[in-house]
Amino acid sequence: MNLILLGPPGAGKGTQAKFLQDSDGPVQLSTGDMLRAAVASGSEIGRIAKSIIEAGELVPDDVMVSMIEQRIDEPDCAGGFILDGFPRTTAQAEALDEMLARKARRLDAVIEMAVDDAVLVERIAGRFSCASCGAGYHHRFQPTAAEGVCDRCGGTEFKQRPDDNADTVKTRLAAYHARTEPLLPYYRERGILETVDGMAAIDEVAAQIRTVVAALRV
Ligand code: AMP
Repeated sequence: MNLILLGPPGAGKGTQAKFLQDSDGPVQLSTGDMLRAAVASGSEIGRIAKSIIEAGELVPDDVMVSMIEQRIDEPDCAGGFILDGFPRTTAQAEALDEMLARKARRLDAVIEMAVDDAVLVERIAGRFSCASCGAGYHHRFQPTAAEGVCDRCGGTEFKQRPDDNADTVKTRLAAYHARTEPLLPYYRERGILETVDGMAAIDEVAAQIRTVVAALRV
């Protein structure tokens, strides 16, 4: 099954993509995670992307399209993938359609996670992750079970993304509305857009997504 999770920064795409990956098997492909790994490794793509990410702008389409194509061609994606953070522009969506057609593959559904702008800034500002294993948390909505200790690995060092600050979030939200939101009618016209209430509690959103995915299987 090949899915897209579509929604603004802070909608919970990464959290839900991980749940789906753990329960259903399709592989989470987060272009944000791939870019952050590229920045950390000091690769050429990382050097191009670093200042763009920190400014909250979008990395050029050709860079993103070739990055995702290489990843989709890897063997672990043969059984299905969940795109998290891609496509973000109409040019990326068109390139994805063309790429999948060439590979005789297709999208089963695009799941929109609808969230009001007003709550996104609070959601993003509260995010942090374990510096050792990368497990993601939120001060209010998804705290660690024991304060200051990672549930997954027991690590005690945490970090916050440099682009998760109020100023950059505004630019990221503007980029979403101007460049990514037009993908909603793009996929609606193709009859594959499903919408879940991204304002609901994490478990409730996961249940809504599971319902969408189960319906695709019958
Ligand atoms: P994310 O982790 O999805 O919020 O992405 C973090 C940042 O990476 C974004 O604000 C962009 O600067 C960049 N980025 C991630 N995915 C894309 C994409 N598909 N197109 C352009 N830029 C992207």
